[in-house]
Amino acid sequence: MLLAALQSIFTPTCHFCVKRIPYATEIFCLECYGNLPKTSFRFSEDNPVVDRFRGLLSIHKAGAWLYYNQNDMIRDMLYEIKYRQNRDLAVHLGRLCAQDFKKDLQGIDFIIPIPLHPSKESIRGFNQTKQIAIGLSEGTNIQILSNNLIRKVFTDSQTKKTRDERFQNVSQVFELKDKPKIEGKNVLLIDDVITTGATLESAANELLKANPNTINILTLATAFEL
Ligand SMILES: [Zn+2]
Repeated sequence: MLLAALQSIFTPTCHFCVKRIPYATEIFCLECYGNLPKTSFRFSEDNPVVDRFRGLLSIHKAGAWLYYNQNDMIRDMLYEIKYRQNRDLAVHLGRLCAQDFKKDLQGIDFIIPIPLHPSKESIRGFNQTKQIAIGLSEGTNIQILSNNLIRKVFTDSQTKKTRDERFQNVSQVFELKDKPKIEGKNVLLIDDVITTGATLESAANELLKANPNTINILTLATAFEL
């Protein structure tokens, strides 16, 4: 009896519809999982995310797992992660993303999450992209390299800036501390959402100075129209 009562209290529920789900390791029911707005393209050398950087930067492969604007799911989840400090949700999403991309990511040596400025990270308490990277790393067995790429400039919120202003805003904001560590390696830059791509472009340009074998990009979601 007691066991049954405890099980009913602790039975996990779907993050969205609050329906009960059978396993504590899952965060969505099957129906909500099926509603995740997955992009149609894979992590590859030829897709809209790679196109976004074409002519600007030598990106080997890139991909985005979900569409940001197709429904409210991603917006709601990122809000909960950032403003309600739900770190576990970010890790879970990284694990789910890993299920879909594990095979494609074979050959990657390091996952490098886009860093926050230390002041911003201490205000928020954590870096959501690092949490996503933890889940991705668990699901793929690829090592995370954090504290090597650092953000040295505190940038303002980019929401009200024009595209050109955003690009100016993120140039020269990153610094790679240990360049030999990634020389000749295949590195995967990850971010929560790609909007203009300016942040990723700036970070990738800093990584290029270390002569990695390839630079690759994966984001949880894409906000630009494809
Ligand atoms: Zn559900």
